[in-house]
Amino acid sequence: MKIKFLGTAAAEGIPGIFCECETCEMARQKKGRFIRTRSQSIIDDKILIDFPSDTYYHVLSHGLDLTKVHTMIITHNHFDHLYPDELNMRSSGYSYLKEKSSLNIYGTDATLDAIRNRCSENILQAMLSVNDLTLNRIEMFTPFEAEGYKITALKATHRAPDSVFYMIEKDGKAILYAHDTNYFDECVWDYFEKNNVYFNLVSLDCTEANIEEMGYVGHMNLNDNLKVKERLSAMKCADEKTIFVSNHFSHSGKDVSYDIFKSIAEEKGFLTSYDGLEVSF
Ligand SMILES: [Zn+2]
Ligand SMILES: [Zn+2]
Ligand SMILES: [Zn+2]
Repeated sequence: MKIKFLGTAAAEGIPGIFCECETCEMARQKKGRFIRTRSQSIIDDKILIDFPSDTYYHVLSHGLDLTKVHTMIITHNHFDHLYPDELNMRSSGYSYLKEKSSLNIYGTDATLDAIRNRCSENILQAMLSVNDLTLNRIEMFTPFEAEGYKITALKATHRAPDSVFYMIEKDGKAILYAHDTNYFDECVWDYFEKNNVYFNLVSLDCTEANIEEMGYVGHMNLNDNLKVKERLSAMKCADEKTIFVSNHFSHSGKDVSYDIFKSIAEEKGFLTSYDGLEVSF
């Protein structure tokens, strides 16, 4: 399996478009891995996770080929993870596809409602009626299959309705992609326990980077990432071969600039994501 991180920031991006903080100014100067766009990843060039407004930039900058993507799994309806307006651009007249193909979008009720409310009603109905687009309602803790992958939505602790994060499995390999969530709810740990899961790669929300105490519920910092790593390892859901990645950073996080955070995270056994990072296992 391969995961490619296309965007690795929290909502404001780094640099934030209206921001003059030290982190954002440094990103403007140094560019490269210091720049972080809004969160999106793709598994094996097939399973696209989230559809933020920066998707267009990911097409331009990371060779993301949306004409070949038929499966999108959406975590929640915050704009930095779901920008439904752009889906209008897949309809006839806005796009000319050589082969007719359907795009399957998977999400909980709140996600699908956001798509229905934000896409042009006529365009959406036209796409749905000829199966150019299919909206698939998912339930937490009920695995579904897409393109040969077993995908399970897990309950996120986050300030958006019906937020989920995902477990993606294929051919005996498994990824846990857990962003826009606090330290996991006990129901998630129970699910891992009962289902005897083992992860080859775990990507965790690290919005506040190296901050000691989180001031709110809904995201994590490096300490929380460590707690998740330790508990997964104690439960044998992970071991020394598991690749742990800290991802989804805000400019407000402590020591968040790429070079500084990378060395701190490395010592604790975490890779630091950057836009364009690819990991195969
Ligand atoms: Zn986010
Ligand atoms: Zn800033
Ligand atoms: Zn969010």
